[in-house]
Amino acid sequence: MAKRDYYEVLGVTKSASADEIKKAYRKLAIQYHPDKNPDNPEAEDKFKEAAEAYEVLSNPEKKQRYDQFGHQGVGGAGGFGGGGMNMDDIFSQFGDIFGGGGGGGFGSFFGGGGGGRRTKKGTNLRVKMKLTLAEIANGVEKKIKVKRHLIADGVTFKSCSACQGSGQVKKVVNTMLGQMVSASTCGVCGGSGQIVDKKPADADARGLIVKEEVISINIPGGVAEGMQLSMSGKGNEIPGGIAGDLLIVIEEIEDKVLQRDGNNVIFDLYVSFVDAALGASIEVPTIEGKVKIKIEQGTQSGKMLRLKGKGIKDINGYSKGDQLIMVNVWTPTHLSKEEKEALEGLRDSDNFKPDPGNSEKSFFDKMKEFF
Ligand SMILES: [Zn+2]
Repeated sequence: MAKRDYYEVLGVTKSASADEIKKAYRKLAIQYHPDKNPDNPEAEDKFKEAAEAYEVLSNPEKKQRYDQFGHQGVGGAGGFGGGGMNMDDIFSQFGDIFGGGGGGGFGSFFGGGGGGRRTKKGTNLRVKMKLTLAEIANGVEKKIKVKRHLIADGVTFKSCSACQGSGQVKKVVNTMLGQMVSASTCGVCGGSGQIVDKKPADADARGLIVKEEVISINIPGGVAEGMQLSMSGKGNEIPGGIAGDLLIVIEEIEDKVLQRDGNNVIFDLYVSFVDAALGASIEVPTIEGKVKIKIEQGTQSGKMLRLKGKGIKDINGYSKGDQLIMVNVWTPTHLSKEEKEALEGLRDSDNFKPDPGNSEKSFFDKMKEFF
């Protein structure tokens, strides 16, 4: 995609003053700020585009090169080369643009992180969780071990002397247009504004230790393969910020006899020809153990039976799916001499001749009835 002209991006003319450029950018930054446009990638792109344009046009040297050579003249300069700026760079600009101290009505966008600093968040942890059909059906409490980065007991922090606790370092440069202030993330404290003062021997330079924790999770009924559950604040901690999240990715263990179909469970039942003809009481497996079902005399192969409420809980409600039992009549493949003789004697009996007539619904009608 062709890069838009930086003046066009900010909506200013080439003769715009530094102040006009700043005002134009400020307006766009407020309009497209990610905190005001959550989960809106288009706004984020516009936000980044405006930040990149401002980064160049607010810098007299880059502006001059841009005016002369266009995008080619500033590519690779100033820490962004074609790939645009990252969010940290952009937020570090704000100390300059919005006057620091969180003033000007802009501080509220940063959730209390004054001075235009964004709240830092620790990294997320991700674990896979294998669940049986029974666990999925009704929900289950699971305990898992995770290794988290935690702020060690006894760690104390002090204000970063390199940035006086602001998280940003400002540089004043003299240019032909006057003094310009540029701000960037403090390299000593990484932008948090504080550094470790005292720490126990086992903590790293950031004051963190790795600790194995057992966390118990309530998995709701009805989860499915690939679903991701999130426990906020159970990820890695970070000095001067909030902890990341623990993400639990669901994996279904395939059941050997029961097949999941949405919230229903399907079971293929094979009955002997004799049981189908005479009727029988037969045990079938369900998610909650074995139950006895009645096979009526004269049951045809392909009949479907329904065990109401023996399926899987709906993840969004209180309802439960059913267990559907598909009856298959098993035709014997080996017969003894006596069995053969007995069956030969029945071959010509009228009762043994197929007579589906109208009383037997077709397979498709049965499907319609059940689904
Ligand atoms: Zn610092």
